[in-house]
Amino acid sequence: MIKTKAILLDRDGVLIEDKDYAYKVEDFVLLPGVIDGLKLLKKKFLFFIVTNQSGIGRGYYTVEDFHNFNNYLLKILKQESIEILKTYFCPHLKEDNCVCRKPKTKFIDEIIKEFNVDMNRSWMIGDHPSDIQFGINAGCRTIFLTTGHGDRHLDELESLGIKPTLICDNFLVAAKEIKRNIKKN
Ligand SMILES: [Mg+2]
Ligand SMILES: [Zn+2]
Repeated sequence: MIKTKAILLDRDGVLIEDKDYAYKVEDFVLLPGVIDGLKLLKKKFLFFIVTNQSGIGRGYYTVEDFHNFNNYLLKILKQESIEILKTYFCPHLKEDNCVCRKPKTKFIDEIIKEFNVDMNRSWMIGDHPSDIQFGINAGCRTIFLTTGHGDRHLDELESLGIKPTLICDNFLVAAKEIKRNIKKN
């Protein structure tokens, strides 16, 4: 069976504005370039969201709240003919030491198993060092976005010695870079 390629997407600070534990639809703000960027990539890649949602573990919102909010995003994207195949979320706190919180790769294993994705030809896009480490752990190429918390975390990335394949300042630029990269190889 031919393996497929994927774009693994962090959600908050990548697709939508990171408003710290947002779960209400009225706080929903799509980031610029997301729709156009995803449209550029949708013929070549499957899309997945992989998101750490410790707000659930902290009791700020419930799993149901999370789904309501996330489904709203999925609906907006669907109206633009963009399909996110599946959303993977970790509801735990860092201290819980679970197996699913990025940069841990439980969800990578699930994606490979269920969708036969070739991670070496896939990309992870995130705005936090743990997203980049997650992508590296998975064997993906990685893009660090300076939207969301990205700007704040740029120094942290350097001090941790985590090196993304690319650093981009918005989603559309990232999508164009990925497209350029597929043409090269
Ligand atoms: Mg984020
Ligand atoms: Zn977890």
